[in-house]
Amino acid sequence: MSSVIDGKSVAAAVLEECRAEVTELKSRGITPGLAVVLVGEDPASQVYVGSKARTCIDLGIYSRKIELPATTTQDELITVVRELNADPAIHGILVQSPPPKHIDEEAVIRALDPRKDVDGFHPENVAKLALEDKTGFVPCTPAGCMRLLAAAGVPTAGAEAVVIGRSMIVGKPMALLLMAKGSDATVTVAHSRSKDLPAICRRADIVIAAVGRPEMVKADWVKDGAVVIDVGINRIEDPSKKSGYRLVGDVAYAEVAPKCSAITPVPGGVGPMTIALLMKNTLQAARQLG
Ligand code: NAD
Repeated sequence: MSSVIDGKSVAAAVLEECRAEVTELKSRGITPGLAVVLVGEDPASQVYVGSKARTCIDLGIYSRKIELPATTTQDELITVVRELNADPAIHGILVQSPPPKHIDEEAVIRALDPRKDVDGFHPENVAKLALEDKTGFVPCTPAGCMRLLAAAGVPTAGAEAVVIGRSMIVGKPMALLLMAKGSDATVTVAHSRSKDLPAICRRADIVIAAVGRPEMVKADWVKDGAVVIDVGINRIEDPSKKSGYRLVGDVAYAEVAPKCSAITPVPGGVGPMTIALLMKNTLQAARQLG
């Protein structure tokens, strides 16, 4: 029998911690501020930006939403980022991904003040994560996965962890967090060129799937009693839904769940954690910038 790791309730607990931290910061005259910059009109990005702003407002964090047209040039976007870098009311800056194709996302990330890079994507923060320097910002989704493992009481020390996916947003930072001192897992990172992925997965006490392929991880890939964290968010057609689609993860949940000791659902697993950890990072920035 597997237990379902409820991301909504763990995220709610993280947000309550944040609420208390906001009160404490405000008592010292600091109102934490987060700016979210959106270029273009991607509907999914608009939903993400909207819910980030709502969560800020709910917690008492100052929220600034900057919506720029899809025709914004890279230089214009970098100018906006630099203005936010210099703005004392703003402690965290997030440029919603993906920007339109004519913009080099890497160049925009490098223009961020790393002390305000609450996504943790700036090279300085990537280095700090590798160096286990806690003053850096950890990318929100893998940080959220670590909180889910902790909340579910999953022991990581000495555990065999397999991370599927090596992106800078999820897979790579996830691997660094799992192998860091205090977490102490033995980590394997698999990716699109890995051979015999099912066999690699079967070694794992902890599987983290961050691929973007609907229901790729099957029951016979997973060892009995393993813990499975499903980061994937994939839309698949479903004519029975009003929207015409439903969301599934990278794990074939119905067949994998009975084999696991614990598993995250999609939706309601990793998803809610990402925003909660963004709030945490914003408060860390506010504390560090003072
Ligand atoms: P990405 O496309 O940047 O990276 C995908 C990774 O999967 C790559 O490293 C690639 O090598 C690997 N991969 C691709 N096909 C593979 C295969 N057949 N076998 C093994 N590895 C393969 O994606 P990402 O940004 O890391 O996101 C991954 C998934 O997580 C997506 O579904 C995304 O929507 C989701 N995601 C969810 C959240 C959240 O808040 N829950 C946040 C970020 C991303």
